[in-house]
Amino acid sequence: MGVNFVGLVPSASFDNKVPECPHGPMLLFEKADDCGSKAGRQFYACAACRDRKQCAFFLWRDERLPAEKVRQWRQRAAGESRAASHRQRYDRARTILSGGGAQYCLTCTALVPASAAAEHRSHPTRPADTESARRPTQLLRPRACNKSSAQYLFSPDTVTVLDGVLGAAGVRRVLCCGTPRLHEHLLSAGQRDSLLLDLDERFEEFWPPETFSVYNMFNHHLISEEGHRAYREFVQRDGGRGLAVFVDPPFGARLEALALTLRTIADECGSQPAVFLVLPYFNEPDVLRNLPGLHMTDFRVEYDNHNKYTSAAGGRKFGSPVRLFASVAPQLVTLPEPTYRLCAPCGRWVHADNRHCDRCRSCTSKDGRPYRHCAPCGRCVKVTWQHCAACDRCALPDHPCAGQDRGVNRAVSAPTQPKRPAGHQPKKKPKRRRK
Ligand SMILES: [Zn+2]
Ligand SMILES: [Zn+2]
Ligand SMILES: [Zn+2]
Ligand SMILES: [Zn+2]
Ligand SMILES: [Zn+2]
Ligand SMILES: [Zn+2]
Repeated sequence: MGVNFVGLVPSASFDNKVPECPHGPMLLFEKADDCGSKAGRQFYACAACRDRKQCAFFLWRDERLPAEKVRQWRQRAAGESRAASHRQRYDRARTILSGGGAQYCLTCTALVPASAAAEHRSHPTRPADTESARRPTQLLRPRACNKSSAQYLFSPDTVTVLDGVLGAAGVRRVLCCGTPRLHEHLLSAGQRDSLLLDLDERFEEFWPPETFSVYNMFNHHLISEEGHRAYREFVQRDGGRGLAVFVDPPFGARLEALALTLRTIADECGSQPAVFLVLPYFNEPDVLRNLPGLHMTDFRVEYDNHNKYTSAAGGRKFGSPVRLFASVAPQLVTLPEPTYRLCAPCGRWVHADNRHCDRCRSCTSKDGRPYRHCAPCGRCVKVTWQHCAACDRCALPDHPCAGQDRGVNRAVSAPTQPKRPAGHQPKKKPKRRRK
């Protein structure tokens, strides 16, 4: 039984407004019916937390709340928001840093002035000054506490390549959604302007509302009015020209909700911004279905603190499975040699290991492994697959085969079943490690 995303939908209980939890407007979902025939019951849930233990706000759509309950709900949602404003936190942090001898306390997740060091003696701390405060992702511990906000940071090499890609695409301003490392780099390099939108409120001590706002990309919710003003000014500058939106969503995220957010941003900026998105290669069909303007590039996105999504020792054998998706023309996505090469017939940059297939007229590897062309299938397949005469398609050697075990696989081989044009589709998606 699955759950389907419906959208941002007003509720009768809340004066025909979208109900809000401490994380902003809630999303409407529908529990799919067991047999999938009739529509299931709809409910509102938090857009930021998947786990009800982290955000207990929940409402059935057909449930009519009495006025008193609605009042309590609103009070609770407002009460859980923070005491100090972003501006106050930022100003206080500047004062602490300029005083010298400051520390960042990893237990209290706050900057601590030299005068208060004794109170944090038993806590792990890191020295902090105005210089190190420019790169908070190196000062803070990446969040790992829960599924919805686990934080993975681009490696320095990846950030450099991404900056080059943005430059080649003529981007002057980047709306960084969930990409603090890229934001940090863009601000210090000074070539492009950047505004970071991220769930992590710890950044409020390091960046003012002009360059950072607490934000949830799934309901397009900016937590403060000040942040909202900064966002509007940023996206609408120059009539929206030169703007790119760069998104690093949690893996396994609902792309329907993200697509809705990207359409809203385009509406609000007044022109279609360039869009960049990072997700594993096996999400390609899902990305193309929800965001048809994007194409998958061959760039392998690497993370500093993810042991699988790196080409470093101990990483995945065929490099990171995470790819950059882009809306700009493929030939503009220039990647560094010699790891990548320009494939002239394809007109795009591909990994040096990705071989061009004359018959498919494309560089066919998706997962980083070499592919080979299968003549009977009429397409390229993974080298680990073999053509099976009984199934009339390529598959892993130990696949459940129509030629061996007819009783079990009757449904697959029954003549009434339309034959797939080519190749086994992978039955199971590879495990998503992130969220
Ligand atoms: Zn919530
Ligand atoms: Zn402390
Ligand atoms: Zn090619
Ligand atoms: Zn081929
Ligand atoms: Zn084949
Ligand atoms: Zn077979």
